[in-house]
Order: sequence, then C-alpha cells, then structure tokens
Amino acid sequence: MSYYSVPSWGKKVEIKNTKPVYNNNPIVLYIEGDGTGVDIWPATRLVVDEALKKAYNDIKIAWVEVLAGEKAYKETGDYLPEKTIEFLKEYNIGIKGPLTTPVGGGFRSLNVTLRQVFDLYACIRPVKYYQGVPSPLKNPSVDMVIFRENTEDIYTGIEWASNTPEAKKVIELIESLSKKKVRVDSGIGIKPVSEYGSKRLVRMAIKYAIENKRKSVTLMHKGNIMKFTEGAFKNWGYEVAKSEFSDYVYMEGEEPKKPIMINDRIADNMFQQIIISPQNYDVIATTNLNGDYISDAAAALVGGLGMAPGANIGENTAVFEATHGTAPKYAGLDKVNPSSLILSVKMMLDFLGFNKAASLIEGALQKTILDKTVTYDLARGIEGAKEVKCSQFAELIVKNME
Ligand code: NAP
Repeated sequence: MSYYSVPSWGKKVEIKNTKPVYNNNPIVLYIEGDGTGVDIWPATRLVVDEALKKAYNDIKIAWVEVLAGEKAYKETGDYLPEKTIEFLKEYNIGIKGPLTTPVGGGFRSLNVTLRQVFDLYACIRPVKYYQGVPSPLKNPSVDMVIFRENTEDIYTGIEWASNTPEAKKVIELIESLSKKKVRVDSGIGIKPVSEYGSKRLVRMAIKYAIENKRKSVTLMHKGNIMKFTEGAFKNWGYEVAKSEFSDYVYMEGEEPKKPIMINDRIADNMFQQIIISPQNYDVIATTNLNGDYISDAAAALVGGLGMAPGANIGENTAVFEATHGTAPKYAGLDKVNPSSLILSVKMMLDFLGFNKAASLIEGALQKTILDKTVTYDLARGIEGAKEVKCSQFAELIVKNME
C-alpha cells in the first residue's frame, strides 16, 4: 500500500477565505480511519467515484491516502505523523474516517489537534431528514445546518485538577478579582470566547445562509447565565449581522423585508425547540460546547450518528469527516452505515462545485432508503426492511444513480 503518493494528473485545490479555487481532478487527501473506517471508507469511495463518472465522465478525484490514528501508529509509531500535517498544509483539503482517541498516556484527541493546527474554526453539521428514515418525531421535517465554533470555549482544554498548586493559584486569583468564594478543592476550567472567534463563525454562517437561500440564522447561547462569554457571543453575532449583512438580514420582530431573519435562543430552550418545532430553524450558529451537544441531539432526529455528515472549515483548509466514532465492536464486520461518510463527501463535492455529482448521491441514497434496503441501524426502525451489509448498501446506491 503506498501512502502519500500523489497521482501526476491530480490538481491542487487552493482554499482562500474559506472558498476553494475550482479545479478539475482535484487532489483530495483521505484518512481511512480506525475501527469501522475499514468498512465505510471503501463503500464511500465507490459511491463518490461512480457519481463523478456518471455526472461528468471526465472528472476524477486524485485520492491520496495519508496516515493518522491506529494505522499510522502501526506503520510509523506515531498517531499523527508530521508528514500528514505537511501534506494537509500543502494540499488543503481532506476527508477523514473516525479516529480513536487513545486513552491515557497524555494523548490529545487527534480530531482536536487537527482542528487547532489548521485553525478549522467552523464545524459544520447539516441535519437533514431523508424520507423513510426512522425518526422519533411524528413530523420530522428537519433541514438545519449547525455552525459550531471549533477553536475556543472548552475546546481550548485549559483546566487544572482539584487540589493542584495551579488550581489553588487560580482560585486565589479568582477570589481576589471577583470577591466570590470558590471551594478550595475545586477543579478549574477556563472558557474563553473572543470577539474575533465569535464574529468569524457567525459571519461564515450568515454567508452560508445567503449563498444557500436559507431563511434564518439563530444564535444559540447561554447568555442569561454566562454573560461575558455566551452572552457576548450573541451580541457579537448581532453586530456582525447588522454591520456587514444589512442588505440581506432583518431581526426577529421586524418587518421581513430582507431574505434572512436573525434571531437568538437560549441553549436549553433551543433543545426543546428543535424537537417541538424543528421546521422553524434553519441555520444555527453557536459556541463550542453548545454545538457539541445540539449537533448529536439534532442528528438523533434524522436517523442518528450513522446519518450525520460534518466538515471542519478554516480560512485555507477544509477537512470533511464522519461525525460518529470508530464503533469498535462493529469494526471489519461490513455492517455499519456508511451514510455519514458518504454525505460528508457529498458536502465536499458541493464545496468543490461538483453539485451534479452531489445531487446524484443524495437522490440515490434517498431511493435506497425508500426501497428499505438498509444497514442494521436503519433496518431496526423500518418495518419490512431488508438488512444489507455496508458494502451492499453502497453498491445499491450506485445502482440507484441511474
Ligand atoms: P461511536 O463510535 O460513534 O459509536 C457509538 C454508537 O453509535 C455505536 O455503538 C452505534 O450504535 C452507533 N454508530 C456509530 N457509527 C455508526 C455507523 N456508521 N452506523 C450505524 N451506527 C453507528 O462512539 P463511541 O463508542 O463513544 O466511541 C468509540 C471511539 O471513537 C472512541 O475512541 C472515541 O474517542 C472515538 N470517536 C471519534 C470521533 C471522530 O473521529 N470524529 C467521534 C466520536 C468518537 P449501536 O451500538 O446502537 O448500534
């Protein structure tokens, strides 16, 4: 197996201001992923390559395998080899399967490391209902896109364990600054939320709403309690909307003379809103921890993690990813649902401008689900479903592209 091997006919994708400079035959790096990565990656690649062939005939992706995770460790003794970082710096775009977070030994999550090294500041999670997918909702008309800030808030990992000298020092400082008592045996975590980080995230969400003809952008926050972090996020979000997008947006309660409404919701309310009236929500922009929770909760409405795609986007780099983990108990069984990774690559095709191939994939996936030929996770919720393997599911999607 040759890793880091770039086909001579491939063309480099440049990303400027979060947008790709279009190229035929783009070079795309891929990380197969641990656990079920060995199942879902080949299934996904089959679907994507066939969709491009059917849509354009003369366009191909120049796939380049780069190493990360357990496979990397086995081959190189390193979970995230420097060469992978160098390749991503050079080629700017990639797709990754799930990666194990090694437990203990002081490892940082590989996902978090990639996001921080490349300043992939927006985690974008579309949450869309496909007909026939089992859902806990009676009327699952869900079509939301969540923009989660990816570099600040609790993701900075600034924390000190209870009873350490550092925690005690910070407690002293807090008490001297705030005049509030903190129990001496407290663990301490810091939650930084900046104007710069908040504004660029909300800016990206509003631009997305404009480009994709969406109807609203909701700022989700817990500003009633955390005024200078969560509350500030909301205020900065409104500032960006009013100062930079006044031709496109109006505020909730104003006369709807522009295409996109901006509003905000407190985080706890947002959770009930997406269950009771998901049709009222479209694009959601939020801080890191809120985004983490709401993304998986929203995915549960449309078939679960097996159906949820994602992307991490920065100014100059884009990494698309299956949002679920490695599901180790199913690894190598050719059983799990490849849709999360397939829909992530569909996002990538849209991002690169290959919209026709992206639509082919979406249509064929929808048809395969309506035919009730689905993987185990969907089969257990669909009456009369025929359970198929991961690879068979991909083959059926290809067949349904006609
Ligand atoms: P997980 O791997 O996402 O699996 C949790 C459950 O989700 C599975 O048991 C399965 O549910 C369902 N599931 C996951 N992938 C599926 C698929 N493709 N099709 C259908 N159902 C699927 O979460 P975890 O067990 O908490 O984490 C395992 C490892 O993955 C950990 O090392 C964790 O750090 C890592 N992780 C990585 C990422 C990432 O790379 N982005 C994200 C999350 C976790 P049922 O048991 O009900 O069938």
